[in-house]
Amino acid sequence: MNKRYPLYIILLLIALATACSQKGPYAITNKVYTHQTDSFLHIIQSQLPPLLIDSTGMQVPAKWVGTVNFGMRKPNYVIIHYTAQDSVQQTLKTFTIKSTQVSAHYVIAKNGTVYHMVSDYLRANQAGLGKWGSITDMNSCSVGIEIDNNGFEPYTDAQIGSLLALLTKLKKDYNIPQANFIGHQDWAPKRKPDPGPLFPWKVLAAHGFSFWSDDILELAPDNYDYITALRLIGYDTSTPKDAIVAFKRHFVQSDTTATVTQLDLNVLFNISRKYQ
Ligand SMILES: [Zn+2]
Repeated sequence: MNKRYPLYIILLLIALATACSQKGPYAITNKVYTHQTDSFLHIIQSQLPPLLIDSTGMQVPAKWVGTVNFGMRKPNYVIIHYTAQDSVQQTLKTFTIKSTQVSAHYVIAKNGTVYHMVSDYLRANQAGLGKWGSITDMNSCSVGIEIDNNGFEPYTDAQIGSLLALLTKLKKDYNIPQANFIGHQDWAPKRKPDPGPLFPWKVLAAHGFSFWSDDILELAPDNYDYITALRLIGYDTSTPKDAIVAFKRHFVQSDTTATVTQLDLNVLFNISRKYQ
């Protein structure tokens, strides 16, 4: 039997269904997320050829022809952060307020819960200004992971367990090289201290994310050009002191001063060969 409902009943049912699907403290920001991703469709569906002007001021002939062979661009780096905040609720709030202008793809709570906040295929506002090797726009090629930690406390076992599971998935899904798991401090040594010397990079390296120095270290050569070695790993060495501190916070950890000791040189000499 073909039953017909009046329009107001249908509208009422739609309104009820919409209200039911928008429960929870983040119902509104989830809706904003959907609207924003919808707006990106107009950009990626555009079939306008580029407007190009040659050196004589003439317009270069250009046409659009859609190919049938393409896909989504994938992230190739992972940037690890600490939140420098006191609770995961505070961070979720920070990342769902427009005025802060900051976000991350994932936030990991102290109890190990992983919050996913931006699709891996989209650009989160996490890495900011910095430089790593020849990369100058890390947000466009990386996934950012924030770990709930105020910067002065140990990371929890639950957090590291969840992080390893997440990194394993990201590495597999996007074929991310071992060297491309770095800290915010590595990307922006002049501005950022996270994830700091308490972050267990040795554990991560044992699981294939980033590197750690060998137990037995060779002596670095005499007059070792450690600034060039830092630059070849990826560090922005325009302010050498900051690059040294960032390196030590990641790869030495027991001492994070800007003084370069024989141990630091030996670790760098060892690590630099893993990045070749
Ligand atoms: Zn950070």
